[in-house]
Parts: sequence; C-alpha cells; structure tokens
Amino acid sequence: MNRNPQPLALTNALLIDGTGAPAVHGATVLIAGHEITAAGTAVAVPEGATVVDLRGKAVLPGLIDAHVHLGGLGFHHAPPFGGREATDHYAVPRTDALRHGVTTQRSLGDFLHDSIAVRDAIEAGTLPGARLAVSGPSFQVEHGHPNGTVWGGDDTCLREAARIPKSAAEAAAAVEGLAAAGVDLVKIIISNNAIFGPPRPELKMPWHLVEAIVDAAHRQGLKVAAHTETVEDSRRAVEIGVDDIEHLLLRAEDPHDEAALDDLFALMAARGTYLVPTMVAHQLHATADTDARTLRYGNQAVRRAYESGLRLGVGSDAHSPGLHGWKLHSELIMMVHDQGIPAHAALTAATRTNAELLGLADRLGTVEPGKTADLLIVSGNPLEDITAITGVHQVIQNGTVVTDNGA
Ligand SMILES: [Zn+2]
Repeated sequence: MNRNPQPLALTNALLIDGTGAPAVHGATVLIAGHEITAAGTAVAVPEGATVVDLRGKAVLPGLIDAHVHLGGLGFHHAPPFGGREATDHYAVPRTDALRHGVTTQRSLGDFLHDSIAVRDAIEAGTLPGARLAVSGPSFQVEHGHPNGTVWGGDDTCLREAARIPKSAAEAAAAVEGLAAAGVDLVKIIISNNAIFGPPRPELKMPWHLVEAIVDAAHRQGLKVAAHTETVEDSRRAVEIGVDDIEHLLLRAEDPHDEAALDDLFALMAARGTYLVPTMVAHQLHATADTDARTLRYGNQAVRRAYESGLRLGVGSDAHSPGLHGWKLHSELIMMVHDQGIPAHAALTAATRTNAELLGLADRLGTVEPGKTADLLIVSGNPLEDITAITGVHQVIQNGTVVTDNGA
C-alpha cells in the first residue's frame, strides 16, 4: 500500500533528527510511501516530487509518550471513560495525541482486550491514532494502588486491568497469559500508597512476587516497567532486573539521602535501566506547600538523573480526555524550564530514547533513511525555545499527513 505515489520533499527545514546530532539548517527530508528515504543538506529532490517549503519551521521525529493510560479506568477525580465501548475505541486519546505530534504511545495499565484490539486496528490502518505499545493490565496487590485507591475497588477495572497473583506460580502463569494475549510489555506497581496518605507498607507487592513476574516476563521476551515510590524500592526493583522505573515519586517530607539517589542513578546507568519521571503528573496534582517542595525536589532529582548519564525516557501519565499529547508537551517544557535539561537532550529523550525503550528503534525515533516516516513539523526553533513544540504545523505518520494546521 502506497498512499503517496509521488515522493514528498520537505525542504529548507531545520532538521532535529532525534539522533542527538547537531541540528541542520536548510535540510531536505525525502519521503517515499511510508518511509524516509533521505535527510540532510546534500539531498537532491527527485523529479516529480511534491515539494513543500518549510522555511522557518523545524522537522523532528514524531514524539513518543512512554507512559499513558487510554481510559476505561475509574478515577475518583475524573469521570471514568467507561471503557472502549463507551468511548468509540479510545477515540479521544488516539486522536488528541496525534494532533500534538505524538505518533506513538505506550499504554501502561489499561483494559487487556480493548487496548490490544485498538493497538492492532491502528497498526492495520483501520483506526486513526498514535500507534500503541500496550501492557494491558498491571500487576498489583489486593486493596493496594490503584485498585484500592483511584479505582475504588471497581469490579470491571479489577477484572480487565489488574492481575493480583498470590504466589510466584500464579504470577508466572498470569504473565504467560498476558504474553499469549499479545501484550508488548509487563507493568508492575510497587507502591506503599504514600501518594494517597500515610504510607501503608503492608499494601506493597512482596518482592518474591516481583522476582517471579520479572523472571517470567523476561523468559517471554517482554520488558518490565515498574511504578515505584521510594529510592529504596527503585533500587531493589532495578537489582531484580526491571527494565524501567516509572514516576520518580519522592516526597518532600521523607528524609532524603542524596548519596542513595546518586547511587541509584549510577546503578541504573550501569545496568541500562530507563527512567521515565512523569513529573508533569506530580505538577498537575500539586496543591499544598509540601507538594510544591516535593515537585522542586523531584525536578532537581531528574536533573541529577540526566547528569548521571542514565537512559532518560519521557512519559506524561496522561489518563483523562484532553491530556494526551498536551501533557507530553508540558513534560518536555518542564524538563527544559524546571529541570535545566538542554532542549536538544529532552527532544532526543522523547524520540530516540523512547523508541529504544519501546523496542521500536529499528523503525521509529529518528529521521534517517529507512525509518518509518513519522514526523512532527513545528513553527520556530524548539532548541531555542522549547515551547515551539506546541506550535504544531503538520504531523506525518507512516508517510501520510494526519494533522494539518495550514501555512
Ligand atoms: Zn500511570
């Protein structure tokens, strides 16, 4: 299938190719069918190509959000989406993401069969939307987070979006069941519920179950993403072998050991463990004074993580209508404005590094010949002003313009 019989030539663009290489002014990107066939300044435009002049605009890889929820899950502070049936196959998160140049999302905790069906429909081209990698349900403990917190014990959520093994054998069997159903990865919640009040360590996943889940997932060739809430829990999860740490939740009222944090980041850098901080999720929930201090502390910690050289991914934890895409832009802006991370590094994290985290780096994450033509075109220069990423001009997915805001 080739929807663009004529090659498309994007010319005179500022090219930020996602590899981390210096940006190139006056670049041309050639697209034939679904693929990027050339990118750079020494690119001849073939005869018959459709030429689009992008003077004053920047071309970058389609953004990847490494942490979203598609919906169907009950939240006490927002109306539940009602699941796929009530939301036209997750129409809002699918298309909101695309409008913001997010061409790929990783769903970390959603209804199993709904999220897989929609992922496959997007991949087949029968539904529009940001392509998906999905974990399906997350591994949790009974009455713990999120079933006992934001879900309020909702039966449908428990059935469709949770796995609550009571033994190592049950945990392994549950992972095998998810693998057979076709999930792309496994998600574990290692929470002491501290985000919702005083810590309740008795509601934390026992470590022998974490070990069983990680072992079983890796035997199936699946990566494991872990929601953690303390430095100590992150460290133990990394030692057991999880592939990425989600959230970096650090409470201002907890005693903080800077050396322990630096040790954690050094360990993650040495083991190749990814970090997806999702600081915008904490910012949106921050209201009280202690929250503001927590946020400041978290932002400083992300900066230290970046400086440690670990694999820094980007995720937004978007979960409600209106947040998908917008929230990833906000996370990127926070990285630059509040964490002091260079804009170029932030954009590389949300493209190449996220593609590596999702296991899709052979197809996605950079603007290079042979890669799938997923591109975000914005007005201005996001390296000079990161908020330029919100000025979406066009979004191209699989070589087709899927969002067009005109000249
Ligand atoms: Zn989440």
